[in-house]
Amino acid sequence: MSRDRYSSSFRLIMQEVRVYTAHATPNGSDMNMAGKLGAECPCGFSFVTPHGQDDAVAVVQLHVDRVHKADYPQGISRADAIAELKEVK
Ligand SMILES: [Zn+2]
Repeated sequence: MSRDRYSSSFRLIMQEVRVYTAHATPNGSDMNMAGKLGAECPCGFSFVTPHGQDDAVAVVQLHVDRVHKADYPQGISRADAIAELKEVK
């Protein structure tokens, strides 16, 4: 695994995510308080969030927009993002 290849963009993404979630409203997040949601991208990016589905969808969409824009110029839909999510205990 070539971890170094991802580390710089990963750091950028996490900064973006932090900014993004800082401005996110908590609306709807109590629907998923029971578990954490996470996802893994084939490129090596992965994350877990305790802030609910809206937050997890935002992270997936942001990641695709920042890293995979060449493959997904329109980004991905909420439904596609949700399909990537899995519950983490
Ligand atoms: Zn990726």
